[in-house]
Parts: sequence; structure tokens; C-alpha cells
Amino acid sequence: MNIHVLSLFPDMFTGVFGSSILKKAQEKGAVTLDVTDIREFAYDKHRQVDDYPYGGSAGMVLKPEPMFEAVEKLSEGRKPRVVLLCPQGERYTQKKAEEFAQEEELILLCGHYEGYDERIREYLVTDEISIGDYVLTGGEIGAMTIVDSVVRLLPGVLGQEASHVNDSFSTGLLEHPHYTRPADFRGMKVPDILLSGHHANIEKWREQQSLKRTFLRRPDLLENYPLTAEQRAYLATLKK
Ligand code: SAM
Repeated sequence: MNIHVLSLFPDMFTGVFGSSILKKAQEKGAVTLDVTDIREFAYDKHRQVDDYPYGGSAGMVLKPEPMFEAVEKLSEGRKPRVVLLCPQGERYTQKKAEEFAQEEELILLCGHYEGYDERIREYLVTDEISIGDYVLTGGEIGAMTIVDSVVRLLPGVLGQEASHVNDSFSTGLLEHPHYTRPADFRGMKVPDILLSGHHANIEKWREQQSLKRTFLRRPDLLENYPLTAEQRAYLATLKK
């Protein structure tokens, strides 16, 4: 997969893209990540990328020409998805990350300042994504969030192929709790079932913990989850 990021502050990506799983994924050849400075596509003397809003109001607006030129140069006749980071966009979810992970190429556009010229939104992008109902200074942290969540889903990136399969949201539920050694830490004990060696019972316990956690913390997720009769019965006892 190739992911291109367009940003006014490319240095912000150095640490995140050069560490941990993202670093390894690039070394393994699973992904290429490149960050381009939008100013490279501003051709006037001052490399101006923003301007005052028509009609007047506070803040500066990103001009259309550098964004269009940059996307056209990066896509070179192909038609990759072009994702605008934007607090007004569709709320980002694991499902969206899974969808993006199927693409061969993505272009992420990071805004800054007051926002974008509306023509960027209307004519250049294929997706508008918000990473939550709050306003950040720029799209860079959102772009990092998308890159991180997508790259870890690519084949061969995580140590064991299956290690993201049971993650919260991938299954539609929150994940069950985890414990490691020691079995007794200051009197806080690991549940006996996990020490029993009985795999079927452990799986059942994990499934129930996952249901319980989802019910207590994110009951909205259960609304569309295809519960089995047994899971329905377990939830009914929990509710009582
Ligand atoms: N004036 C804009 C509005 O009210 O919708 C907010 C602009 S914000 C200060 C500047 C840039 O940060 C946005 O263009 C976007 O790229 C990014 N941004 C801010 N919050 C975001 C969020 N929740 N999700 C994704 N991107 C965000």
C-alpha cells in the first residue's frame, strides 16, 4: 500500500512514522509512507498556501491551487481515494480503517488554520473524515491516527497474522480483559479460569467478558450485533 500525506507541517510525522509498527511495516515493504509539504505546490514568490476568506471573517483559508496541484501530481492519472481530515466529516471507525486497508493507495489531506476553500471539499476529495467531535489545530494528528490504524491491518505487519482479529471493534464488541504474570500481584489475583489450562472454558469466559464489557461500557455496539441465543441469554442474566 502507498499512503501519501499532504501537510503544511511535515516534520510532525517524523517521530510517529519512524517508530514502532509503522517503522517496521515500511522496512518489511508492506507500506510506503510519504509526507509532502503543500508549500511545494505554491508557486508564487512567498509560497502562499492560504488567504483571507471572501466575505470577511476571522482566520485564514487554504487555497485550492496547491491542494489540487499536489493531488494531481501524486495521483499521476490514477484515481486513489483522497481523504480530507475535517471535523465536519464522517466519524472515523474501525470499519472505515478496514475499508481503507483494502486500498492500494490513499492520499490524506491535512488542513490547518480556519479551514479549506470549499472547492477542495466539493471537487477534489472522495472522503471527509473526522476523528471525533472536537476541533484540533490541524489535520496532522488525524492523519497519523488513520495511517496507524490502517497499516496495522495490512497483511504481515503485526507479528501474528491474527493479532488484530480480536481487537475491540473488529469483532463488533469490546475486547475481553488480559492478564500476565505474576498470577498474584499484591493480593490482586488473576481469575482462576485463566490458569486452568481448559481452552474451551477460557474461550467461553473471554466471550462472556467481552459481552459484559460491551454491555457496561458501550451498549450502543450491541444494538446491531448479531447475538446468538446463548449470548442473548447471558446478557439477560447480566441485566437482571
Ligand atoms: N473551522 C473549522 C470548523 O469549524 O469546521 C475547523 C478548522 S480546524 C482549526 C483546522 C483543521 O484541523 C481542519 O481543517 C482539519 O484538517 C483539522 N481538524 C480539526 N479537527 C479535526 C477533527 N476532529 N478530525 C479531523 N480533522 C480535524
